[in-house]
Amino acid sequence: MKNISIIGSTGSIGTQALDIVRANGDIHVVALSCGKNIDLVEKQAREFKPELVSVSSEEDAEALRIKLADTSVKVMSGMKGLIEVSTHPDSEMLLTAIVGMIGVEPTLAAIEAGKDIALANKETLVTAGHLVMKRAREKGVKILPVDSEHSAIFQSLQGNSQNKIARILLTASGGPFRGRTREELENVSVEQALKHPNWSMGAKITIDSASMVNKGLEVIEAHWLFNTDIKDVEVLIQPQSIIHSAVEYQDGAIIAQLGTPDMKLPIQYAFYYPERRFLAGDRLDFEKIRSIVIERPDYETFRGIPLAIKASNIGGSMPTVMNEANEHANAAFLAGKISFLQIYDMIEYAMSQHKVIKDASLSDILETRDWTDQLLREKYKV
Ligand code: NDP
Repeated sequence: MKNISIIGSTGSIGTQALDIVRANGDIHVVALSCGKNIDLVEKQAREFKPELVSVSSEEDAEALRIKLADTSVKVMSGMKGLIEVSTHPDSEMLLTAIVGMIGVEPTLAAIEAGKDIALANKETLVTAGHLVMKRAREKGVKILPVDSEHSAIFQSLQGNSQNKIARILLTASGGPFRGRTREELENVSVEQALKHPNWSMGAKITIDSASMVNKGLEVIEAHWLFNTDIKDVEVLIQPQSIIHSAVEYQDGAIIAQLGTPDMKLPIQYAFYYPERRFLAGDRLDFEKIRSIVIERPDYETFRGIPLAIKASNIGGSMPTVMNEANEHANAAFLAGKISFLQIYDMIEYAMSQHKVIKDASLSDILETRDWTDQLLREKYKV
């Protein structure tokens, strides 16, 4: 039996991870956490019998304690609870399936406690990649990518540790607005932005995919995970989501991972790395595909990638500003308070106002997050 903890167990990644646990039968989930969905986390607690469950608010924790009164499950709340889940003494691995940079502290705490990390929560690497990767190296823990593109890159690197990479080819579907002009994006609705052509994901990442900020965050994520210069990460639009990403080596050979769009594969690969296990689901049928389409991204219209590259090149606390401004704008767009294109304006504005802190510590990162939110609240009243 392998013991794991999951933060974000009620979300898109969290529930698919529990499907993997259910299908394999040799993983014990020792601790779980979610935000507010106490009905689902109660069901998960009854099925998977963790020792500890944590939720965002103490009020919800009280309600969950009553629901789970006939069990021995301990219920906690807030950041303290998240950290207890992430560092549970019986757990060997933490799956970070929580959304947003709230994942930074629990991830760092889990690394300190010697847990391997199956990392879906890209915002943690974007904002604190320098701290996460350094501590992971020092503590000898593995950071196993769950994001499908990064898992594809990781899979393409296997057996090549001695070989230098020439380029990382990071693929993107292009999202629901691929091919549209800036004018055509002016009045797009939340419903339109939530209609991703290939992937079914949580709301925040779906909006990030529509704006292509997600791909910008992924460029930074790749930079940290694979110790690669930002300039050597090239984004290609692959609208069918068949090529999940690739690595080009010095001799020109390109090794890619292909498959149907299914997050269960990267989740399972991270859980059992380096073992590959049977996974039920559709298989690629090249007879039906016939052609593979590749396009260049439109950086003028979809400013998410250039903004992320700029933030990463400036470094220090700037990626935190870029990420948090996006989290703030993404939530405001989802709430119907700003237009789609204002997402980019808010990120640009916050970045233009920031005085960079070099070598940002954890407390610098958290202060920068709060500074960004306050700045945007004052300027945009959202
Ligand atoms: P979801 O929105 O579906 O799920 C988020 C999870 O985090 C839920 O369990 C939610 O709980 C929990 N959560 C949210 N806010 C808090 C909080 N303040 N405190 C504690 N828990 C909280 O997100 P996804 O599963 O789509 O994404 C999760 C992460 O994985 C993101 O970083 C995303 O970028 C990354 N990712 C996702 C992919 C996907 O296919 N979905 C693909 C690649 C990466 P509750 O349900 O109670 O709100």
